[in-house]
Amino acid sequence: DVTATKGNGFEDFYLKRELLMGIFEAGFEKPSPIQEEAIPIALAGRDILARAKNGTGKTAAFTIPALQQVNPKLGKIQALILVPTRELALQTSQVCRTLGKHLGINVMVTTGGTTLKDDIIRLNESVHVLVGTPGRVLDLAGKNVVDFSECPMFIMDEADKLLSPDFTPIIEQLLAHFPPDRQILLFSATFPLLVKSFMDKHLNKPYEINLMDELTLRGITQYYAFVEEKQKLHCLNTLFSKLSINQSIIFCNSTNRVELLARKITELGYSCYYSHAKMIQAHRNRVFHEFRNGTCRNLVCSDLLTRGIDIQAVNVVINFDFPKNAETYLHRIGRSGRFGHLGLAINLINWNDRFNLYQIEQELGTEIKPIPSHIDRSLY
Ligand code: ADP
Ligand code: MG
Repeated sequence: DVTATKGNGFEDFYLKRELLMGIFEAGFEKPSPIQEEAIPIALAGRDILARAKNGTGKTAAFTIPALQQVNPKLGKIQALILVPTRELALQTSQVCRTLGKHLGINVMVTTGGTTLKDDIIRLNESVHVLVGTPGRVLDLAGKNVVDFSECPMFIMDEADKLLSPDFTPIIEQLLAHFPPDRQILLFSATFPLLVKSFMDKHLNKPYEINLMDELTLRGITQYYAFVEEKQKLHCLNTLFSKLSINQSIIFCNSTNRVELLARKITELGYSCYYSHAKMIQAHRNRVFHEFRNGTCRNLVCSDLLTRGIDIQAVNVVINFDFPKNAETYLHRIGRSGRFGHLGLAINLINWNDRFNLYQIEQELGTEIKPIPSHIDRSLY
């Protein structure tokens, strides 16, 4: 049970009463293991490098310490939370607002896709926590619209993604705007070597948390079905008719295939949305919002949505196209089975994918079984 803890409660962290109220009203009764480990260390001011499974409550693990140290009377940004995608920025800011509801603080989101001018106007009101994507935040810092020179906290969620070669220079430039004694918190489910070198360079005696060894894909039953490309749609149709889908996410490997498949699924008579990186942002936001509200049962998307997105109603993930590597697989499959719920992952595999399948099983130390003719409802 991922929610099982050593018995401490949120009360034991000596949080502000208003913050504790927000936490309880959000329905959190006890800290999850990552929260139990990370919160006291972060409150003590240490840098942290934390790795924990998808869906185990990492967001609150960094949001709670950030909110605790914000002084609402100071009219300046006191925590920056960087995330790799716009959707995740919106979701994370929502968590900040929910948990910080009684603190009287302002949380602002800034991402590409809105005009810089609007952001500048919004920044004129005092903002205490800024959540954003790296490019836009650097833009604001570079134009001196935001001042991080006294901002004590620098947080990166999905840190391995933010420290990929594309992003690292931006992150380093941004970090240069912060005071030398800023606290850095890095969170992710996967940590490649690149993170290590960033850590050695910028973190001060970081406290390392690794809750990854346990339970990596526990709670998620994984199957594969051998299907030729031409048979994939037929196979999907069969799955739709046989499975008890609460909500599903169906992954394709390219934007073209996302659109094409979404159209075909609609033709088959199933409700379906789609989302990919080439769509305009307002449209993407609407799709995400409505899917999360349950307006629609199925979402077809590219890897755009694989990271961090938390929709608890999703009990089935289908890889219509099999991912190329273990990391992508882990992030996709982690869309179901959130916070101890059960989930089902089904992989449509063609002849060329078979080595990848084996590779990913090995790398993740998990088992992907051939799909049986009947899947027990109690598994998801
Ligand atoms: P991660 O970032 O580790 O993948 P999230 O932070 O998105 O996970 O959290 C997954 C889900 O668990 C969210 O719906 C969140 O509201 C819920 N959650 C987080 N912490 C707790 C808690 N202490 N008690 C109950 N639910 C929690
Ligand atoms: Mg997350």
